[in-house]
Amino acid sequence: MKSNGLSALGRRTATPPISWLMATALARPGLISLAAGFTDKESLPLKEARQALTEILNSPTEGRTALQYGTTAGEPALRRLTAERIRVLDGCADGAVYSADRLLLTSGSQQVLYMVTEALCDPGDFVLVEDPTYFVFLGILQSHGIHARGVRLETDGLDLAHLELVLEQLKQRGQLPRLKLLYLVSYHQNPTSTTTSFHKKQSVLSLLRYYERAAGHPIYLLEDAAYRELTFQGGDVQSALGTGKQADRVLYAGTYSKPFATGARVGYGILPEPVFPVVMGIKGNHDFGSSSLLQQLLAKVISSGAYERHLVKLRARYAHKAKIMLDVLQKEMPEGVRWVVPQGGLYYWVRVPEKATSGMKSRLFQTALRKQVLYVPGELCYVDDPARPKPNHEMRLSFGAESETLLMEGIKRLAAAIMLSLARRG
Ligand code: PMP
Repeated sequence: MKSNGLSALGRRTATPPISWLMATALARPGLISLAAGFTDKESLPLKEARQALTEILNSPTEGRTALQYGTTAGEPALRRLTAERIRVLDGCADGAVYSADRLLLTSGSQQVLYMVTEALCDPGDFVLVEDPTYFVFLGILQSHGIHARGVRLETDGLDLAHLELVLEQLKQRGQLPRLKLLYLVSYHQNPTSTTTSFHKKQSVLSLLRYYERAAGHPIYLLEDAAYRELTFQGGDVQSALGTGKQADRVLYAGTYSKPFATGARVGYGILPEPVFPVVMGIKGNHDFGSSSLLQQLLAKVISSGAYERHLVKLRARYAHKAKIMLDVLQKEMPEGVRWVVPQGGLYYWVRVPEKATSGMKSRLFQTALRKQVLYVPGELCYVDDPARPKPNHEMRLSFGAESETLLMEGIKRLAAAIMLSLARRG
């Protein structure tokens, strides 16, 4: 047979590395996974969810709506509550950008990322990403045949001089008309835990706007705020929606996964014209609406105040786990290992000395596996870029899923694996 019958997209779509990591974690009992992006099991809001679901199902009207198809855009109450919540977080009085009419509820914010990419990009187009970035997003780009270009990160977000350089290079090569989007994980970024300052969001939008003339179309900022509500140190930063006139180029992706329940898979997008109706159309084709029951659950816990109370506890819990991980990193890691201390989110971004590498095929990764501890190799989070070798000395460690005891044990094992691989190479 000449062909396997798959579409070009089907042929391009590679098995995401995360599937392998998750399957490995499941297949090896006793393995400590510092790799999974899972949230803390202990603090999942069982009581809050049980009470809200009971109330919904005890009411014939609410219960029947919850068990029925809803609309493509989602439950009106949750759309209103969510839009208002983001407006209040942003401290903005101007309601137009935060109108519920611009908000679409989805199956996790992952669906927003996917649909927005599909709405804006064709194969051969370019998307700018942080270098490194959320590797599952890179999978979406790869599958759609979209080129990613990395922009270096500083402690407060993108390196603006590098962004300008990348934009200028695209312009000189005549590729600007194919640039559609800049993707930014703006709060406690996955994987580096970097938070982008509001000033940088404004500057990024201005730069993109400047290059629109040569591009011949809008260049959007896709702001992924997945970890926004998990800030446990320092205050909130305004989202790019708060930039006034510039907000017409902002696509905001948010989620109730991390702050409430990953299993509910309730996410949302706040989108401007003309993107909103197109994404609605795509969602209509995908699933014509996400689960009514789970959206009602979220609406109930938000309006009762249970959500906010849960968040307070959750932030304290993650602050505690992050501190435990820090203590054990400081105690166990050999000389030369560096890390970023997170102020929220779920991750430590750790760099090992140049002598050791951390990739899937590295001695370190294999030794760690033998010692029954798993991490996300940093190399997975970098795009292929001819302008630089792919960094391979980093790892993403999550304090989300495992218990305190296992976090401590996991870091000890990892430190031992790092020492072994440094000793062998030295
Ligand atoms: N964005 C980022 C940066 C993430 O880390 C994740 C989940 N790991 C998502 C989006 C998607 O999460 P969800 O679909 O559960 O909202």
